[in-house]
Amino acid sequence: MAGTFDLRGKRVFVAGHRGMVGSAVVRRLAAEDCEILTVPRETLDLRDQAGVRRWMADHRPDAVVIAAAKVGGILANDRFPVDFLNDNLTLQTNIIDSAFRSDVRKLLFLGSSCIYPKLAPQPMPEDALLGGPLEPTNEWYAIAKIAGLKLCQAYRRQYGVDYISAMPTNLYGPGDNFDLDSSHVIPALMRKAHALKRSGGKTLEVWGSGKPMREFLYVDDAADALVFLLKNYSGDSHVNVGTGEDISIADLAGAVVSVVGGDARITFDPTRPDGMPRKLMDVSRLFATGWRPRYALRSGLERTYAWFLHHLEKGDVRLGPR
Ligand code: GDP
Repeated sequence: MAGTFDLRGKRVFVAGHRGMVGSAVVRRLAAEDCEILTVPRETLDLRDQAGVRRWMADHRPDAVVIAAAKVGGILANDRFPVDFLNDNLTLQTNIIDSAFRSDVRKLLFLGSSCIYPKLAPQPMPEDALLGGPLEPTNEWYAIAKIAGLKLCQAYRRQYGVDYISAMPTNLYGPGDNFDLDSSHVIPALMRKAHALKRSGGKTLEVWGSGKPMREFLYVDDAADALVFLLKNYSGDSHVNVGTGEDISIADLAGAVVSVVGGDARITFDPTRPDGMPRKLMDVSRLFATGWRPRYALRSGLERTYAWFLHHLEKGDVRLGPR
């Protein structure tokens, strides 16, 4: 896989730079000899087509990374189907189309492992896409992400531009959302375990059966893989980004308690949904390039907890209304 896009001297627009993934991409791009462009949400609503077209025409980036998305855990996905489908379809189409109109040469669209069918073969190869029905708790988000990767493919096919897609597995790390109503599992369990340690409470409540299997990638590893793909990949197919290893939610809960400290006992709430039974990426395409993650789950969890403690003190962790 020869280098296809030299970042040196390029202007790279990171859409969604305040989010967990976008901010990690900005951190990683700082090590490249490129100019990073960002725009605050207050200045530009990415759902506003005319605004995005104007911004893109005015700023003329050479490359675009779409890390902007309406995201959330299993509960939020289920509760706000319009937001997950409509916001994502709108903002990604605006950015991809405006990028094309402004002659952006390279574009990287980010999806998620939930694009694959509920009962996809495990680990899930890139060609498992559209092989069966989606998991209902996240189908709104998944449909939007599938449309985004197809739109990049369509632009490649019709206009020959180098627009690529990466599908990261479940991500976690600094900048994650710790609001229990909308968060993913790691920040939720970390926040709950931390509260128990403080209060001396004894039971950590885990949603579902504890049996689902999930793969987790530390966000700085994800950003490293994304910048690697931006520079080196220009294929038609999307590329899975993960570790190739998974863990049960019950074992994950044990690992979180051990990192946070305290002696909480784990209980399960079967009235909450399990979601996909298993979601393990087949990462052979990515690993064939030689790329590997740096952080094992344990060290990623330790770093995330250190970040959480530091930012709790500073008062800028996303905790939600409670
Ligand atoms: P998913 O990968 O799209 O299902 O996203 P999540 O990170 O929200 O959930 C992963 C798994 O963790 C699901 O089986 C959840 O039921 C389970 N889980 C256990 N406790 C929690 C919790 O407190 N919050 C969330 N979001 N998920 C939890």
